[in-house]
Amino acid sequence: MANVTACIDTATKQIAGALGLEKREARLEAQILASCALKVNRAWLIAHDQDVLTPTQADAVEALIARREQGEPVAYILGEKEFYGRLFRITPDVLIPRPETELLVEAALERLPKDRPAQVLDLGTGSGCVAVTLALERPDCEVSAVDMSITALEIARENAALLGAGHVRFIVSDWYAQLAPMNFDMIISNPPYIASDDPHLGKGDLRHEPLHALASGPAGMDAISTIVAGAQARLQPGGWLILEHGYDQAAACYDLICLAGLGQVFTLSDLAGQTRVTGGQWPGRR
Ligand code: GLN
Repeated sequence: MANVTACIDTATKQIAGALGLEKREARLEAQILASCALKVNRAWLIAHDQDVLTPTQADAVEALIARREQGEPVAYILGEKEFYGRLFRITPDVLIPRPETELLVEAALERLPKDRPAQVLDLGTGSGCVAVTLALERPDCEVSAVDMSITALEIARENAALLGAGHVRFIVSDWYAQLAPMNFDMIISNPPYIASDDPHLGKGDLRHEPLHALASGPAGMDAISTIVAGAQARLQPGGWLILEHGYDQAAACYDLICLAGLGQVFTLSDLAGQTRVTGGQWPGRR
């Protein structure tokens, strides 16, 4: 009968071997997955390292480790991912929230008018992490969250309810296509932006994420072009368009946004030093 330490050691070796991860990273994943299987926190694992697991407990841990060995992302196994300090429920129907996307949220929060409520549109909301975070950080603003996937919207709606953002509106739409005529103070999006033949799509966690949330045409620019092209007709004077994009797409996004007639165009870099967010403002004052 294995104790907790032996169980974590075995799981670490299995994960490191199957996925080629560093031992430290594999151990962390083993601990996270064991905590989930045993319904305890990681501190419990350390305090109870000599406890002998029951066969049922050992099986529960092994079942999750086996899924990870097959390459399933940890976040999908757990069914949740932290974003901007809150836990979001996720399934393989939605992209796993990334830390880089917190930069998009910060760029939005800095630019939302401070002195009045604003209308915000989040295009391609997925898990709802951007829309729900903005709605919770700025409860005075009205956030509309769009996705063409009904299953994604169900998850986003569930996250809004679980986290107390009851006032977000959810709309099934292919970008702007099904939106009622109305204009926004801000349009924000983390769209798919990977080139459809990018070999990364066949590797690691990306293999398990919805392709329509990742890839967008030969240069990865199709969704971004559609969003920029439709923005001016949907922005209030003085309204902002803010987009997340790939590490090598800042210049293309910058040009598209300028050509669409927006000003105050800016690009921001993420914590890894990659240019990641570009935006601009529709001229005029509200
Ligand atoms: N940043 C993600 C990645 O490269 C892609 C997310 C997206 O396409 N919006 O893994």
